[in-house]
Amino acid sequence: MSEPDYDIAVIGGGPAGSTAAIYTARMGFRTCLIEKKSFPREILCGEFLSREVIEILEELQLTEQFQSLRPNPLTAFRYCPDHSHPFTSEFRFTAYGMKRGTFDSFLLDNARSAGVTVYQPAAVESVCRKEAQYDLVVADSEGEKHLTAHHVIAAYGKFSPLDKNFHRDFLQHKSRLNGVKLHFPTKYLRNFSNNEIHIFTARSMYCGVNVVNDNTATLCFLERRFKDGVPPRARIVELLRCNPHFAALVSSDFESVIETFPIYGAGNVFFGKKSFVENGIFMIGDAAHVIAPLAGDGIGMAMQSAKMISTVLDQNRQNSLSEEATEKLYSTMWKLYFQRRLRFALMIQHALFSRWGKRAGTQILSTFPHMLSSLIEYTRG
Ligand SMILES: Cc1cc2nc3c(=O)[nH]c(=O)nc-3n(C[C@H](O)[C@H](O)[C@H](O)COP(=O)(O)OP(=O)(O)OC[C@H]3O[C@@H](n4cnc5c(N)ncnc54)[C@H](O)[C@@H]3O)c2cc1C
Repeated sequence: MSEPDYDIAVIGGGPAGSTAAIYTARMGFRTCLIEKKSFPREILCGEFLSREVIEILEELQLTEQFQSLRPNPLTAFRYCPDHSHPFTSEFRFTAYGMKRGTFDSFLLDNARSAGVTVYQPAAVESVCRKEAQYDLVVADSEGEKHLTAHHVIAAYGKFSPLDKNFHRDFLQHKSRLNGVKLHFPTKYLRNFSNNEIHIFTARSMYCGVNVVNDNTATLCFLERRFKDGVPPRARIVELLRCNPHFAALVSSDFESVIETFPIYGAGNVFFGKKSFVENGIFMIGDAAHVIAPLAGDGIGMAMQSAKMISTVLDQNRQNSLSEEATEKLYSTMWKLYFQRRLRFALMIQHALFSRWGKRAGTQILSTFPHMLSSLIEYTRG
């Protein structure tokens, strides 16, 4: 069999894919990345970049470039339930707010600079294993082409038609949660400190608001199944009416102008278990597991799992690990690093969606306000 075109093919150019491509290219692997959308593109996300993201950027020596994009520093968290006074906690780290359009383009540009061959816009339509290598069918504006690689890293996000191609078990489970993201100018915010992220809750729904770059605020809304026929913007207005803290945050004309704010990435989200490896293909980022967004840590996990698979593939090359040993090493590292926080973040999300859980949580926080900062710590690496 002839030598494949690449050592590693990465599917998807979000934070997971671009980070894996940067690490592996810098390790000397011949890496290609295939991304189906043209960038910059927006995606469903609260756009809160947590500590882990900043640590990985530092390790990759990209901090200066990142700072030149003027991310908004975030140093405190404010939890505002509909039925109680708000609770505030300082972070023990500095996080940042940045539009995903800006952040993801920055990472993908750095993958190119690291020597990665980027196919964009181009979608992987199928992946087929042939002995010790993979054959990828890639569709772009010119038609279909075939690429071959020794290893495939799947970084295609929370759902892709490729999941059907891989017959992944999680497809049988239906999620009951839907999310939507809006961008709006910061001039519609009142009494708001730019360095805070606010979470507003009401029955079966919550939203996060924080400032990102370019005088823009992000509103990310999540709820248990959108009511039939009620558009997401109308549900956000419902939350506005149920939660006095949210109403006090935005200007009086917010309700009338919300129709003009673009909506990005509305979608159904599954937070349950997925497999880490399918037929020798390594899943990273949301393709491996989606963390409940309240933890605000999905991008950090995506980048951390990208670093992890790069280290594992380097070990595989240096120590000639068998395929089985390589898969086992990745699965073990993944579970060790992420499982605890995933469980914990999901538990908090369940509590937020239940009236009983929310009331109990508020009472506990009223008695032990310092617990909020411990909860924040517990949901990250
Ligand atoms: C409501 C909500 C709010 C969130 N808020 C936050 C937050 O504030 N902070 C945070 O850290 N995390 C947050 N997250 C999680 C975060 O958005 C994800 O964890 C993160 O985007 C995962 O990155 P990824 O690279 O794995 O996937 P993605 O960012 O989804 O990137 C996948 C890429 O793959 C491409 N792709 C898909 N299929 C193919 C194909 N067949 N061929 C080629 N390309 C393909 C897509 O176009 C996309 O660009 C939130 C999630 C939700 C649901």
